[in-house]
Amino acid sequence: MEKWVLITGGTKGIGRAVAECLAKSGYQLVLTFASDVEAAERARTELASHYGVEVHALQADNADITMSVELINRHLEERQLYLDAIIMNAGQTCRDAFEEIRWEDWERVFRANVHFPVFLLQRVVGRIRKGGSVVFTGSLMGIEPHSVSLAYGVTKSAVHSLVRNLVKFLVPYEVRVNGVAPGFVDTEWQKTKPAEIRRNIERKVALGRFCEPEEVAEVYKMLIENKYFNGEIVVVDGGYSYK
Ligand code: NAD
Repeated sequence: MEKWVLITGGTKGIGRAVAECLAKSGYQLVLTFASDVEAAERARTELASHYGVEVHALQADNADITMSVELINRHLEERQLYLDAIIMNAGQTCRDAFEEIRWEDWERVFRANVHFPVFLLQRVVGRIRKGGSVVFTGSLMGIEPHSVSLAYGVTKSAVHSLVRNLVKFLVPYEVRVNGVAPGFVDTEWQKTKPAEIRRNIERKVALGRFCEPEEVAEVYKMLIENKYFNGEIVVVDGGYSYK
């Protein structure tokens, strides 16, 4: 039987690395993305041709929850796809100072990181196979508050709480739910930070470097395949808290 995984924000960064890690093991993929059509097409064709799996790239900006949830659900329904896992990975931030945060940006971050995955799951939970799972991308910033983005830290704490609260709601479906809390992963998200800030981060990590997307991707695969992980948030931070 074909194995299918849906990854939100699956065409770049961490999501793209998870997609590659799973494609190598023969998983077929539905990858959603917000706006970068070129990157999405590149991810789709590279993964399909390198690993011989079916890959769909679906533009579904979660700024409009109703529309993107319907779009994803229709895509699955029309193709009669049943999923082994959903990776709720697409996320947003706002780095404005506390005094300057606008309500619209606060809401945008909550919509992307918390509201969208809840309502996507509500709509498609019946398409996850028994024994399957959901994996959320949380963040170290949801555990160790820092001063860069209030909305981000609060929403990622909410994501971790969501994982634990969802466990019981997903029991009737025989679906597990877990989260990964990455520290600092070297994606576009981090690469755009000034060199001085990057050096500060490296100084705070016990391993002295950023995490490669491929390193964190393996943890998602483990959470999908190990059938006894449930309600866990796995921190992958290179020993950030120990230095
Ligand atoms: P990235 O910018 O490289 O990739 C983000 C992906 O999310 C893209 O594919 C993009 O299309 C998608 N996305 C963003 N906004 C979207 C929207 N409105 N609708 C649909 N898709 C959208 O970022 P990344 O570093 O790979 O981050 C992925 C996840 O990892 C996020 O949830 C982020 O909070 C989390 N995270 C990242 C780090 C890090 O250090 N990079 C650390 C902890 C957590």
